[in-house]
Amino acid sequence: MAVCRWLYNKFVKQAKKSFLSRNDMNYFLTELKQSEPWLYNYYSKMLQMVSTQIESAEKSLIKLNKKGYKTGTIKFAIYNEYRTFTYNQSGFKFEKRGDKTLLHLSKIGYVEIRRHRKFPDNANIKQVIVTKSKSGKWYACLTCDIVESLFNIPKIDFKKSVGIDVGIKSFTYDSDGCSTPNPLNLKKMLKPLARAQRKVSRRKKGSNNRLKAIRHLQKIHEIIANRRKDFQHKLSTQYAKNNDVVFVEKLEKLNMVKNRRLSRSIMDSSWGMFLQKLEYKCKLLVEVSSQNTTIDCSRCGNKVPKGLTVRIHRCGKCNLVIDRDYNASINILQKGLKIFGQDNLPQELWKVTPVEISMRSVKQEQIIQRFR
Ligand SMILES: [Zn+2]
Repeated sequence: MAVCRWLYNKFVKQAKKSFLSRNDMNYFLTELKQSEPWLYNYYSKMLQMVSTQIESAEKSLIKLNKKGYKTGTIKFAIYNEYRTFTYNQSGFKFEKRGDKTLLHLSKIGYVEIRRHRKFPDNANIKQVIVTKSKSGKWYACLTCDIVESLFNIPKIDFKKSVGIDVGIKSFTYDSDGCSTPNPLNLKKMLKPLARAQRKVSRRKKGSNNRLKAIRHLQKIHEIIANRRKDFQHKLSTQYAKNNDVVFVEKLEKLNMVKNRRLSRSIMDSSWGMFLQKLEYKCKLLVEVSSQNTTIDCSRCGNKVPKGLTVRIHRCGKCNLVIDRDYNASINILQKGLKIFGQDNLPQELWKVTPVEISMRSVKQEQIIQRFR
């Protein structure tokens, strides 16, 4: 990794003077190997990937420039920020020994890896990116091509549609009447986080103990991020499995963050990341306008304005009494189906009564259990 960084900076020095193509850099690399023969100890394709990296950085800078953005030049890589190297197409292989999986990297050797999931059967592994996290853990990220027919486009069944309302109290509330509580991972870890932060600021600058404290702090941040990711993956997989189409409302995030008391909870929830996961997992994810979704009565369309603290939707016209988020999610579903001309909703959704809600809460309990 240190070598890649060294090479990266060497190339950047040249690239700052003029545009360097990948071939230029690789030519430069062969010359460099003459004067620095120790470079032969490293896998040549790994070194060449550095030039690919720089070329794509250069190209994206040029693109931004054309769009009228002010751009600087490519920056030098700093010790703590350059933390990956890449094996592309060859130089790596996987081996099974007993119940262990080993990754062999050319010129480095065997490393035991812990797999986070199974390799897909028809996958063709193209690339291995090795990353060192800030707390010192190593990760290998695999990119693979899955051989699948292009004409295998999944058919969409609009009967399997769901509307999802995201919120702070319930992370999601869907039009099937299921809610998932917001795990608020950051909030749970605020105390340890503050403790670790205090420790860092008490230690003398530049001391070894301070470095240790910083590493500890970074570890806590990593735990929070990992828990958040884990929760979102589980929930989005579940929605994608049970539904073909998912409707959500457009998040007016900036407006929400202005409310300072809520802003931390909003950042902690990171619905945007959740929706991203949902988008690539389900067949169709559609954003609908968020206008009036909380106000309209989902049964009769009567407008029932309510403040943020009112949790129950009570319609004076048709006597519907349901959770406000549930009401919103049904509205989101209806809006979405309308876009596709599929607004002949299944009858059961129109007949929701308070009795039914209490029955549904049993179902909710089960879901809550699943995420603990
Ligand atoms: Zn109503």
